[in-house]
Amino acid sequence: MQHAIAFVEQKNGTARRVAFEAVHAAKLVAEQLGGEVHAVVFGSGAAAVAELVKAHPATKIHVLDDAACNGFLIDPIVDVVAGLAKELGGAIVVAGNTMIGRDVASRVAARLDAGINADVVAFEVANGTVACVSPKLGGLTITTCAFKNADFGVALIRPNVFAAKTDAAGNGEIVALAAPTRAYAMTIEADVDEAAAELGVEEASVVVSGGRGLGGPEAFTTILKDLADSLGGAVGASRAAVDAGWISHGHQVGQTGKTVSPQLYIAAGISGAIQHKVGMRTSAVIVAINKDGNVPIAEFADLMVVGDAFAIVPELTRGVHAAKG
Ligand code: FAD
Repeated sequence: MQHAIAFVEQKNGTARRVAFEAVHAAKLVAEQLGGEVHAVVFGSGAAAVAELVKAHPATKIHVLDDAACNGFLIDPIVDVVAGLAKELGGAIVVAGNTMIGRDVASRVAARLDAGINADVVAFEVANGTVACVSPKLGGLTITTCAFKNADFGVALIRPNVFAAKTDAAGNGEIVALAAPTRAYAMTIEADVDEAAAELGVEEASVVVSGGRGLGGPEAFTTILKDLADSLGGAVGASRAAVDAGWISHGHQVGQTGKTVSPQLYIAAGISGAIQHKVGMRTSAVIVAINKDGNVPIAEFADLMVVGDAFAIVPELTRGVHAAKG
């Protein structure tokens, strides 16, 4: 294993933030292996995203901006990424721990007969061997797993962990990829964006979540959204709120939802059940707003605000606006 390949997830010219983090994570590993960083950007709009990748530390940026590929599931991406890894002769493939990232990574791992490490928060490189550090069991234990295959490995990085500052020396060489020519078994009939304009909770640096205590769907689109918008964050939810149909499952944080690690997690009207806690316990700062000061979340919140969320959340939003001037 010598080089690192970052899969830059993008759609119609808009890249996921974790895609750039993948380039930086790849760089961290490649420089310790003495290899190069190769970024792969695929699909309609890839050329525009490749220009943005230039501000990140990739040696080569492989681009396939071909609308014809959009009609297929992820098979062509897998062909391209696995093909590049084989061409390089030995590489670790790094992707964001997102739905698409997981799908691409697992298939690439199968193609390369490589191990896959998910939810990676750090890499340890020694004597040409790469090991991945990942929290398991909701953060109760931390594992360090090396790849058995000496040539190939696949790592899914946790969003918001690897810094992606654009001032890094980049200016990678753009390399145009040829479109795969083989016939694919599955095609996409309809592509529906549920909330295209919204920042996903797993990537947001601030998450404002609501629970059963908010009593209905309105609070999610009004007071919580206002606070999240004022902080440049995303709206999350407990399973109770999702099960009640107040907000879609894509916003759910917890064991059967998303795992988030924002700089700030605000939980309003959420009791802090273990299944919720495992999805947000690694947040840098946790603020809980609850009518009851004796709920489980009080035990692990950095700041417990006891009171009515309907009074406190709008007050916080006003405070943020006032502070911004
Ligand atoms: P509650 O526990 O009912 O808490 C509501 C809180 O709101 C209370 O603490 C109350 O004091 C407070 N409150 C009421 N009114 C106000 C007000 N006006 N202002 C402020 N506070 C107020 N849960 C998840 O969240 N995510 C998961 O992924 C998840 N996965 C699960 C998987 C399994 C297998 C199982 C069994 C459960 C899972 N759960 C999950 C459910 C979990 O156990 C809890 O039931 C759920 O998290 C409770 O949601 P809640 O905190 O919103 O509701």
